[in-house]
Amino acid sequence: MKVTDIRVHVLKSPLAEPFAFSQGWVKQRSATLVEVSTDEGITGWGEAFAQGLEPPEIAAAAIEYALKPIILGADPRNTEVLWHRMYHATRDYGRKGSVVSAISAIDIALWDIAARSHNVPIYQLMGGAFRTQVEPYATGFYRIKGQGEAARLAEEAIRHHDAGFRLMKVKLGYGVNDDIVCMEAIAKAIAGRNITLMIDTNHAYGRAEALQLGRALAGYQLRWYEEPVVPEDTRGYAEMREKLTMPIAGGENEHTLFGYRELFAAGSVDIAQPDLGSCGGITAARHIAALAQSHGVAVNPHVWGSAIAQAASLQMIAALPVTHHSLFAQEPVFEYDRSSHPFRQFLITEPIVQQDGWVPIPSGPGLGVTIDRAVLEKYRV
Ligand code: CA
Repeated sequence: MKVTDIRVHVLKSPLAEPFAFSQGWVKQRSATLVEVSTDEGITGWGEAFAQGLEPPEIAAAAIEYALKPIILGADPRNTEVLWHRMYHATRDYGRKGSVVSAISAIDIALWDIAARSHNVPIYQLMGGAFRTQVEPYATGFYRIKGQGEAARLAEEAIRHHDAGFRLMKVKLGYGVNDDIVCMEAIAKAIAGRNITLMIDTNHAYGRAEALQLGRALAGYQLRWYEEPVVPEDTRGYAEMREKLTMPIAGGENEHTLFGYRELFAAGSVDIAQPDLGSCGGITAARHIAALAQSHGVAVNPHVWGSAIAQAASLQMIAALPVTHHSLFAQEPVFEYDRSSHPFRQFLITEPIVQQDGWVPIPSGPGLGVTIDRAVLEKYRV
C-alpha cells in the first residue's frame, strides 16, 4: 500500500460570543485536519491541535512543506518507522509545538489507514481495549466578562450535572481571589449532588500564587489540579506535588517521549495529559504511556479539538492500561468540551455524545468515525 496524496483542511468558524481562558480571549474555532489517501482507496484522517489562540496555518504549513514529501509514496502501515522519519527530519526546527502537532495529525491518519486496512478499530492494533466506554468530564466554565462571574459559573455547574456529567473541570487562573470566590459559589450550588471537580489554571500563576490557590481549595476533594505553573517549570510542578494534597496534572503543552522524560524525571506530575493532536500522535502517546507507567504516573489524555481529535483520544483511552491497579482502580476519563464547537458537533456523521453519563468508544474500523464533507466545505478557509 502506498500514500498517494495528503490534503490539509484548515477550518475556521467565528464564535457568536467570544470567551476567555486564562491566557486570552478566544474569538473563533479553528482546526487543522489532514486527509491521507492511498492507492488502495483507503483514506485516513488526522488532526493537529489548535487551541483557541494558535493560528491553524502553522501546523498546516509544516504538513504541506515539511512532512508531505516524506510521507508521499510510503506504506502508511509503517507507523513507527514513519513517525521516526518525520521526527528526525524536523528535529533541528521542531521537537515541540506546531511542528510536532503536524506530525501528530499525519500519525493519527496513518493509524486510521492501518486499522482500516485490517478492518479493525485502532485500539485493536494497539493491543486491544481495556474498556468499551469512558466517563466524560465537562470542560467549561469559560469567562464571558473575565472576573466576577461566580453566580453564572455556579449555574453552569448545575447545567452540566443536569445534562448527565458527574465530573467537571473548572477553568481558573483569573486572579487567586476571584478563583476562590468562584469555587465557593460552585461548591455551594452543587452541595448534595454527586459531583467531582477538577481545576485548570492554564499555567496562569507563578509558584507562590499557584500554591496559595491550591491550599485554599484543599478541602474540595479535587480529582486533579491542572497546569498550576508554566510547562517549562518542571521543578515548580514538583513543588506543587510536595506541598499540596490534590493530584497534580499537566502535559497538554509537552511533546513526545523526550519532552515527557523531563517532566517525569523532575517528578512533576501525578497525571500526565498528552494531547493526541500535539504530543506526536498515537505513536508518541504510546511511547509516553509506557514511560509514564514506568514512573508510576497515571495517563489521562487531554483533548480540545474537533470530532477527529475526540475519536483519536477515545481510541487511545480504550487501549490505556491503568497505572495503579486495584479492584476499584481509577479509570481514565474523557475530556468533553461543552462550549459551542461546530467541528465537534457536525464534522462526523454520528457525533460523539454522552449517554447516561458515559461515552461509548467507537468500535468501527480505524478511528471509527465518518467525515461529513459538506461540513468541511462550509468552514474551509
Ligand atoms: Ca488544560
